[in-house]
Amino acid sequence: MSERAAARTATLRARAEIDLAALRANVRTLRALAPGAALMAVVKADGYGHGAAACARAAVAAGADWLGTATPQEALALRATAGLPADVRIMCWLWTPGGPWREAVEADLDVSVSGMWALREAVEAARQAGVPARVQLKADTGLGRGGCQPGEDWAGLVGEALRAEAERLIRVTGLWSHFACADEPGHPANAAQLTRFREMVTYAEEQGVRPEVRHIANSPATLTLPESHFDLVRTGIALYGISPIPEVGSPADFGLRPVMTLSASLALVKHVPGGHGVSYGHRYTTPGETTLGLVPLGYADGIPRHASSAGPVLVDGKWRTVAGRIAMDQFVVDLGGDEPEPGAQAVLFGPGDRGEPTAEDWAQAAGTIAYEIVTRIGTRVPRVYVNE
Ligand SMILES: *Cc1c(COP(=O)(O)O)cnc(C)c1O
Repeated sequence: MSERAAARTATLRARAEIDLAALRANVRTLRALAPGAALMAVVKADGYGHGAAACARAAVAAGADWLGTATPQEALALRATAGLPADVRIMCWLWTPGGPWREAVEADLDVSVSGMWALREAVEAARQAGVPARVQLKADTGLGRGGCQPGEDWAGLVGEALRAEAERLIRVTGLWSHFACADEPGHPANAAQLTRFREMVTYAEEQGVRPEVRHIANSPATLTLPESHFDLVRTGIALYGISPIPEVGSPADFGLRPVMTLSASLALVKHVPGGHGVSYGHRYTTPGETTLGLVPLGYADGIPRHASSAGPVLVDGKWRTVAGRIAMDQFVVDLGGDEPEPGAQAVLFGPGDRGEPTAEDWAQAAGTIAYEIVTRIGTRVPRVYVNE
C-alpha cells in the first residue's frame, strides 16, 4: 500500500485488509500440492468474507482453473464480474426448485444436479435457451446432505442424464461428491466415502458418462488425502490462508498465509477507577484503577458475541482481552493503565507474524471454527485490498 493509501485507511473506523499476494501464493501452494488436478477456487459467501470478485480475479491470475460458489446467484454475479476471463469455468451447487436455471445455462455455468427434479429443470432450461446445459451429477457418498443416493436413485439419475445428453440437451461435465469428515484425517468415513465415490463413478462411466472432471476433495482433503484429488480439488478456506485442521497444522505448517487482517481505530481511551463495571450486564469490573479502550466493532460487524470476555486484541504491541460483553457496534478492552492515542490500531486478527492474534484464536474464544469468523465479517466493514 502507498503511504497515502495507508493514511486514508488509518482514518477508517475499521477495516478488513485483504492481502491478495497472500491469496495468490496460497493458490500456488495448493496447486503444487495437487499437481495432477485442476484447482477450483471456492469463492462462495462473498469469498468467505474476503470479497468474491477481487479474490476470484486474484485466484484465476495465480492459476485457478475453476471458480465455485454455493448459490446460482453468486455464480451469475461472478460471470458478470469484470476482469475475469470470459471462458473461466464457474460451478454452483445449491439449487432450489424455480431457481435461475435458464440464466445459468445462458451464462455457461456448470450446474450441480442432485436429483430428478433438478435434472428436469436443467433440461427444460436448456430447451428454452437452445444450448445444452453443463450438468455435474452429485453423488451422496456418505455425507448425508445434498447429492443422489447410491443404488436405484443413482441409476435412475444417470440413466435420465444420458437420455438428455443423447438429445443434446445437456452435457454431463462432472461427477462429484463432498466429504463429511475430511477435517479428521484417518476417520474411517473418509476411506468409505472414497470407495463409494469410485463405485458410483465407475457405474456412471460404464453406462456411458464421459465426465471432464471427477472431484470430491475440499481444503482438508487437498492438504491431507492425495488419493482424493482425482481431476480437480475444490479449495475454499485454504485459499484464504486458514487451516481447516488447526489440530493437525497451522497455516504456516501447510505453506499457507492468512489473507485477512481485521483492525479498528480506538474510538476512545480513558481513565477509570477500580470497581467500574464495563459494558452491558457489567460482566467485567475493573480490578483497580486502569485505562479502557473502546473498539468500534461489534456483533453487527460479525464479531461473535460468544467471544465476550475472551476475544484477543493486539493494541500497542500487547495482547488485550475483550472486557465484558461485545455489543452490537462496539466492545471495550482493559488497557491496564497504558495510554495509546485515540485512533491507535486495535488488531483483532491477522497472519499472526506481527504479534497479532489469528482468526483461529477468535474461533477458539468463541467456540467455533475460523471459517465462521472470517465469513461473518459484515458489510459495514470496508475491505481494503492490498498487493493487487
Ligand atoms: C464450501 C465447499 C467447499 C470448500 O470447502 P473448504 O473446506 O472451505 O475447502 C468445497 N465443496 C463444497 C461442496 C462446498 O460447499
